[in-house]
Amino acid sequence: MNKPNQFFSDGKLRIPSAAELGFDPAAMREKYAFERDRRLRTEGATQYQEIDGDLERYSDDPHITSRIERAPVAEDIDVAVLGAGFGGMLMAARLQEAGITNFRIIERAGDFGGTWYWNRYPGAQCDVESYIYLPLLDETGYMPSLKYAFQPEIYEHAKRIGNHFDLYSRAYFQTQAREMRWDDIETRWTITTDRGDVIRARHIVISSGSLNRPKLPGIPGIRDFKGHTFHTSRWDYAYTGGSPTGNLDKLSDKRVAIIGTGATAIQSIPHVGATAQQLYVFQRTPSAVDERRNRPTDPAWFASLRPGWQQDRNDNFTKLLVGVAVEQDLVNDGWTELFKSLGELMDTTGATALTSEEVKLLGEIVDFQHDERVRSRIDTIVKDAKTAEALKAWYRPWCKRPTFNDDYLPTFNRPNVTLVDTKGKGVERLTEKGIVVDGVEYEVDCLIFATGFEVSRATYTRQAALEIFGRDGAKLGDYWSRGMRTYHGLMSYGFPNCYHMGFTQTGYTPNFTYQLDKQSQHLAAMLVDAKARGHKVLEPTKQAEEDYLALVMAPNPMSDYLSTCTPGYYNAEGSAQAANDGFLQGQYPEGGLRFYEMLAEWRAKGDYAGLNVR
Ligand code: NDP
Repeated sequence: MNKPNQFFSDGKLRIPSAAELGFDPAAMREKYAFERDRRLRTEGATQYQEIDGDLERYSDDPHITSRIERAPVAEDIDVAVLGAGFGGMLMAARLQEAGITNFRIIERAGDFGGTWYWNRYPGAQCDVESYIYLPLLDETGYMPSLKYAFQPEIYEHAKRIGNHFDLYSRAYFQTQAREMRWDDIETRWTITTDRGDVIRARHIVISSGSLNRPKLPGIPGIRDFKGHTFHTSRWDYAYTGGSPTGNLDKLSDKRVAIIGTGATAIQSIPHVGATAQQLYVFQRTPSAVDERRNRPTDPAWFASLRPGWQQDRNDNFTKLLVGVAVEQDLVNDGWTELFKSLGELMDTTGATALTSEEVKLLGEIVDFQHDERVRSRIDTIVKDAKTAEALKAWYRPWCKRPTFNDDYLPTFNRPNVTLVDTKGKGVERLTEKGIVVDGVEYEVDCLIFATGFEVSRATYTRQAALEIFGRDGAKLGDYWSRGMRTYHGLMSYGFPNCYHMGFTQTGYTPNFTYQLDKQSQHLAAMLVDAKARGHKVLEPTKQAEEDYLALVMAPNPMSDYLSTCTPGYYNAEGSAQAANDGFLQGQYPEGGLRFYEMLAEWRAKGDYAGLNVR
């Protein structure tokens, strides 16, 4: 690895030669473009099969043991919160802290937890450190057992928050909100549910999750396979045996296929490989897999933390990720290492006036160096050279969610595990008995789809299985049919008192709960202030929304980066037409930290700039 100062001479950028670097950047660029092109599909995001009709069973809840019986309710409340994942829970907790207690939480699942309620696949773990990911640690006093927590502990923590803030008494579980209608005279929303409820609310907050609706590959024969099959987010332990900690003992006489090698597959494959009689892993694009370096929490360290520590640690992480200098890297892991390397490189050399093109070039080479290191690990772990080569990822680190796992690569040394590399093409079709790639049929007893979730801003209301009718009966689904339209990522013109949480044109950081916490704090503070001033209706002006859209949709370094990436849900499958419909596109250009500072400054001014208030 080059020492940082090899990039500079007399404060000027000096790109080392290919011999010094150990690779040729131009050749690397070409290789990445080649790999991108062979994965590119003309159908873009429409290549996937939505789960509806007879495929609806893929999204059924396997965790509900009994149906909650209750009579329909008719009530009038201040705030309705849709979704009981960490977003909805944080919103409810912050409302409560702020003194707004007349709220309800509506949730399709049988309990709190959202992502961590649904995703109980073996090995499920959060890739962000638990000390900053698990919300409200300061408030609940809970010490996570590990630096990176597994699903059972995260799910338990969700329930802990539910108890701590007395949210269970305010939640309607196993309840799907079907429709919301705004009444401009009453200045209230009416929410109807599949339980016959009619709930009138002054405000609604929607935190329905960004990756919640499973998707399948849109390949011929998707309905033909006669063996057992399920999606990772609805893991069928009745069939596999075992639990989220593994030991899938019922697979010992089964031939199993997993389609997909994304972040979910990386975590679950080691467990399936450990017990299945035979496992075929069908890969289209490899994930980059770095070391996990997990460890137990040191109780003495945890006891030494002072109130406010979690917010400080979270701010420290977020600062590092947007290139703001910090005295100490508190989290100090694979995420911060990557961001630090470029920042430190520029800091330690005294190279001050680099042009944006030079920064871009430097960033690219630092990424290549990182990628080379991650790829070279594979050769030291995976014994079969052909398999090792096929597992190498040829795209820059932020093109896909980076993964960290110590058990995934060694799984391919097992005699019962076979990697079927489709070289960017994907599986061809399914038959009654199995999966076909390159004309070869792989017969299996069980097929597991690790194929991710629907992602398109244009189908937001579809994903939430909810239609929203705003002023004059306008449908949010129509209003957003060509992409999301928001002010501050939180509100839309024509839909008063309706707030969205999540990746909705807000400020990105990889720690999702950081965003949800900041969003909930902002919304709670705004609602309390509005109530105190007697404002009953808050709605962005058309102009404010358009100005904000122009800001988030303008080309920025992130959209530039994503445009050369391997296709995936981050960049709307690499399709130029839908360039701004990718998961990470259309975000606040100055990043997560500045975005929430901007919201705080907006609140502090107290003039509700950009909103019509009544
Ligand atoms: P992804 O969308 O990331 O991965 C889906 C996988 O299915 C990809 O490997 C994809 O290939 C593959 N695939 C799709 N269609 C086909 C096909 N026709 N043939 C073969 N393969 C196909 O879903 P995940 O569930 O893995 O992850 C979703 C997100 O959830 C992650 O990106 C992450 O944000 C989050 N997550 C977070 C975790 C955490 O620790 N915080 C853990 C797990 C998930 P291709 O890459 O070519 O599209």
